[in-house]
Amino acid sequence: MAGVVLAVDVASDWPPEQLKSIESIDRRAPPVPAEVLALAAFAADYYRANLGEVLLPALPPALRSTRQWRMPRALAGRQGPGPAVPQLTAEQSAALAALTPQLDGGFSTILLHGVTGSGKTEVYLRLLEAVLASGGQALVLVPEINLVPQMMARVCERFPGVGVVAQHSALADGERLAGWLAAQSGAARVVVGTRLAVFAPLPDLALVVIDEEHDASYKQQDGPRIHARDLALWRAQQRAVPVLLGSATPSLETWARAEAGAIGRVTLRQRARAAALPRLELVDLRRATAAPSISFRLLEALKARLARGEQSLLFINRRGYSPTLRCNCGWSAECRRCSAHLVLHRDPRVLRCHHCGAEHVIPKSCPDCGNLDLQPIGQATQRIETLLADLLPGARIARVDRDSVRRREDWPQLLADIEARRIDVLVGTQMLSKGHDFPGITLVGVVDADGALYASDFRAPERLFAQLLQVAGRAGRGDSPGEVLVQTRLPEHPLFESLLRGDFEGFAAEQMAERRAAGLPPFAHLAMIRAEAGSDEPCERFLDAVAHAVRDIAAAGRQRAQRGVVQAFDPVPATLQRVAGQHRWQLMLQSAQRPALRAVLASLAPRLPGIAGRSVRWAIDVDPQQID
Ligand code: ADP
Ligand code: ZN
Ligand code: ZN
Repeated sequence: MAGVVLAVDVASDWPPEQLKSIESIDRRAPPVPAEVLALAAFAADYYRANLGEVLLPALPPALRSTRQWRMPRALAGRQGPGPAVPQLTAEQSAALAALTPQLDGGFSTILLHGVTGSGKTEVYLRLLEAVLASGGQALVLVPEINLVPQMMARVCERFPGVGVVAQHSALADGERLAGWLAAQSGAARVVVGTRLAVFAPLPDLALVVIDEEHDASYKQQDGPRIHARDLALWRAQQRAVPVLLGSATPSLETWARAEAGAIGRVTLRQRARAAALPRLELVDLRRATAAPSISFRLLEALKARLARGEQSLLFINRRGYSPTLRCNCGWSAECRRCSAHLVLHRDPRVLRCHHCGAEHVIPKSCPDCGNLDLQPIGQATQRIETLLADLLPGARIARVDRDSVRRREDWPQLLADIEARRIDVLVGTQMLSKGHDFPGITLVGVVDADGALYASDFRAPERLFAQLLQVAGRAGRGDSPGEVLVQTRLPEHPLFESLLRGDFEGFAAEQMAERRAAGLPPFAHLAMIRAEAGSDEPCERFLDAVAHAVRDIAAAGRQRAQRGVVQAFDPVPATLQRVAGQHRWQLMLQSAQRPALRAVLASLAPRLPGIAGRSVRWAIDVDPQQID
């Protein structure tokens, strides 16, 4: 078994039979830096996880394996042609003038709030330049693995000869280890990575950049529920270095801090290149349509793009053919193990559960009444692709979702096809919405934006707004202006009003008012205790007992007057109550004061195994991002 030696002591409280002796110490790699251990310890404490659970996944697999590995070769200098450095726009210059002094000023947090295409990356590059010139290292976090190569390419192109390494979970073991060691030795000066890169060893760390800081992918949804952005902030504070948070749609947590003046803020309102921001238009889906979920307006716009040889992107956040198969007697295809519909797929033809993966053959007739005419209800990527093939004969249509792009190797070919304009219309899920820059796309259609407006998660509107602006940002990045058509059955919704005006401030103000009234983040702090068992009863009983324990702890704390109020709500079943036969419940804890909540969690956590017994699996989620 491989482990990490954290400390050495001569005596132990543990029974000797539970102690293991160290067989040997692997000295090929330098020790894990104390700073990284401290970060892991903080994360374990804050997110109520075991240190090992946090630390071991943070280390490159090769480092924690007992198998033989050879010390990777040092980084080769990357020599390329001299970089093409654009002249800064006035806004970018002003941003840099405000940001550069922070590089010498110790810990600070600054929000770089810039519309899509405003050239935030150029601002990062200029700051990196200053950091590299003064001998510092930089950490650049992006929310998804798909976005790493693009950011790497831009950094490498700008700084030929400088060591730049990637850190993310899809790297080959050797490459991940080589990057880690290069960062630790100082051979690499910039680390670009996903959330696990927050643990990269960086002895000369001088700047942390978090691109798309609002992105929910920074929060881990299984295992220890760490939030890489928040850990990066803690790390930067320990190291007394600045953090730049970049986004077109900042998280409301970050926005509230900027509004209150607790962190700095720099704004880019214009696109960097001549292209104007795309024109947004709502299309009322309650009117007659050309085909299910394809309005005449959208169809006409698609045809105009085809005629001009421009590209279009249709966005629908559901993969498969249709989300439900139904009979008019009331029967619909449901997963037996989950409280969810089975999704109809065409390629191959199958009914599939998107929660547990179960697959069933498509029945020829209704199992309840024998009716042969089963109807697919609702739209998903494959169905839109099929509809468009009928509506736009001759158009080259490509679908981009997790079913069509299964392997990471498929990406480069797809991106090349888009770039070379071998594709006219892209139909895709959010896989396409983030970060990529396609100058040929002048039309973005959002097929159906309404799902999120009915969701139970209080963050759903925030995510929808961010996603729509992000998707809209794909339009018209080149020289032709872009157009964005958002189809909806709720065109009067206030979220769309702000969206049409491109008014993030207005949207944020309205959401914040609602959050304040409801006692939700950023005006309160939350933790969620989740429970899973084979039936509802043990989950509810467990969470009732937990709620009791929380009230006891909070009451005792209040008497001692140093702790604020922590409230435990009643246990409720999750919206998706059953997944793969497991029933899911949750209990929300809330407090206006973070230290009070932390203190209660610290007292509560050790009691949970005893309360849970054997029948319930549970997890603590501090600062939960998804509330389902
Ligand atoms: P953001 O990250 O804010 O969405 P990017 O940094 O990707 O925006 O910039 C959008 C586009 O504008 C990119 O193609 C980039 O090369 C270009 N760009 C950025 N800054 C400038 C500038 N000062 N002059 C010309 N083009 C620029
Ligand atoms: Zn299922
Ligand atoms: Zn029927």
